[in-house]
Amino acid sequence: MRKLTDSKIVLASHNKGKLREIQVLLGPFGIECVSAGDLGLEEPEETETTFAGNARLKAHFAAKASGLPALSDDSGISVAALGGAPGVYTADWAETPNGRDFVLAMTRVWDKLETADAPHPRNAKFKCTLCLAWPDGHDEVFEGSAPGQVVWPMRGSHGFGFDPMFQPDGYDITFAEMLSEQKQPLDHRSNAFGKLVVGCLE
Ligand code: IMP
Repeated sequence: MRKLTDSKIVLASHNKGKLREIQVLLGPFGIECVSAGDLGLEEPEETETTFAGNARLKAHFAAKASGLPALSDDSGISVAALGGAPGVYTADWAETPNGRDFVLAMTRVWDKLETADAPHPRNAKFKCTLCLAWPDGHDEVFEGSAPGQVVWPMRGSHGFGFDPMFQPDGYDITFAEMLSEQKQPLDHRSNAFGKLVVGCLE
């Protein structure tokens, strides 16, 4: 396992919600972060069929283009009664001709569960794969998850993406009803990040 010795990295994401959360996680380590967007890097097309594949693709693209180590996140929500969908295609379920619409994407998920008359609780998992890639082509990959259920109607205004319909196990409020300090220790991103800390930062 390679340790990160550089004091500056690129965050290989254009998603504001993810960037905010990853910056909070990296804060205590005193690592300077610049986002791919700030460097004017393009967003590569996510052509892989797994979280790890897309995370590696995004991190290597940014590391090569910037000459700095790059950290990417590929994540999504997998609903058991939908065979794990939308999973790696979570962002695609929000696509409209006018940009991404996550209210529409969440409605699609719930409508499919209703049509299938899926039993309650409607178990789901948020999943996250983080990839730290170096300009010389080396990488390290870490996976995390957060178990819970999808609920309806959506509730809460914090967070991003599918947070308003996800209730983590052991809680009766959704991620979007939690402040970021409360969501963070429970979520898939910090679960994966904890493994990255042990592997590459400590
Ligand atoms: P991608 O990793 O860029 O393919 O996008 C994954 C999508 O999953 C995001 O656009 C979000 O909608 C959703 N997602 C990932 N992590 C979270 C989270 O922590 N809360 C809510 N939605 C998330």
